[in-house]
Amino acid sequence: MSYLDYSATTPLDMEVLEAFNKANIELYGNPNSNHKLGVLASQLVDDTTSIVNQTLNAKNFEVIYTSGATESNNLAIKGYCLANKDKGKHIITSPYEHSSVTSCLNYLATLGFEIDVLGTDKFGNIDLLELEELIQDDTILVSIATINSELGIKQDIKKINEIVRKHPKVVFHSDMTQAIGKVKVDVNQCDLVSFSAHKIYGIKGVGSLLRKEHINLTPVIHGGKSTSIFRGGTPAAPLIYSLGIALKKAYTNFDSKLNHIQKLYDYLVNGLLKEIENAHINYTSGIPQIINVSFVGLNANKLQQTLSNQKIYISTQTACNSESSFSNTVKRLTGRDDLAKSSVRISISHLTEKEELDQLVEAVKVIIHENN
Ligand code: PMP
Repeated sequence: MSYLDYSATTPLDMEVLEAFNKANIELYGNPNSNHKLGVLASQLVDDTTSIVNQTLNAKNFEVIYTSGATESNNLAIKGYCLANKDKGKHIITSPYEHSSVTSCLNYLATLGFEIDVLGTDKFGNIDLLELEELIQDDTILVSIATINSELGIKQDIKKINEIVRKHPKVVFHSDMTQAIGKVKVDVNQCDLVSFSAHKIYGIKGVGSLLRKEHINLTPVIHGGKSTSIFRGGTPAAPLIYSLGIALKKAYTNFDSKLNHIQKLYDYLVNGLLKEIENAHINYTSGIPQIINVSFVGLNANKLQQTLSNQKIYISTQTACNSESSFSNTVKRLTGRDDLAKSSVRISISHLTEKEELDQLVEAVKVIIHENN
């Protein structure tokens, strides 16, 4: 088997699972209960919050635990805009956002919010001058992902923050789901930060929204007492704990893992370009964990299925947006329909082995030969 879809999700780290199991079995109290078991579970959540703050060097944030980045993005975007609609109704975003961001924005548009999508340069970087010009009295939110999930485009969060900071009323949200654990991030550049455990070898069904302490939100999930007034429900202490362990591990031996991934990236890109005549790498300025490539003339969905039958797993576009084989993201960046129709995302990790990459290249070569 070659699992080459780490940006869709990651396999579970066994230490994370063990920590979760232990907490689930031994610390099963409700963190809201005032007896000893409840206090121990509540302590587990507080310990996790310290781990998250320390690992991300987060200053003056509340760590809100959610079911994943989709919920975090909903809470950040809808939660912030609905709570602050009296201050303004204008939002600025990028064309390279995840569907959990664009869907929230589309929903807000139906409520009368006005959404502006920034232009980008040939590297996919947002137009910073345009951002400066677009911010007006009515603007309340800028939402721009640190890393795009399909191509790995990395935005300059520091420069975006410098512009947003000139306007005290404007809040900066970044979806860091594809960034946290993959690159070094500075969450302090943002007011709201979303991420998810299952992208960093954690358990599916838990994520977080970091909220700068002065920012008001309307809950998306109303309910009983929780760790946060902005998200109802009994805190899932063992799941929350597992997120902390996954996050800490993601940044342990980080440089050596990244170094290994960079070598694998170079090996794969060289192999693809050397061995396959019509391979076209769609983006080369992104993160080394994501390789977006088109095999011109080959339908992306068909390729994915044929590889899947051979136990080689990759994505067309992203896992959340994979029905059509035409990638609007690739079209937008390259301007070419032939590349957009045939693009696939190969995503690797420090767990990837060269043999898996060899297997992929060989399989694609055979598929192309059979299709000619
Ligand atoms: N944002 C980005 C950039 C993502 O890649 C994903 C996962 N595909 C999400 C948000 C949604 O995350 P989750 O699966 O935790 O809801």
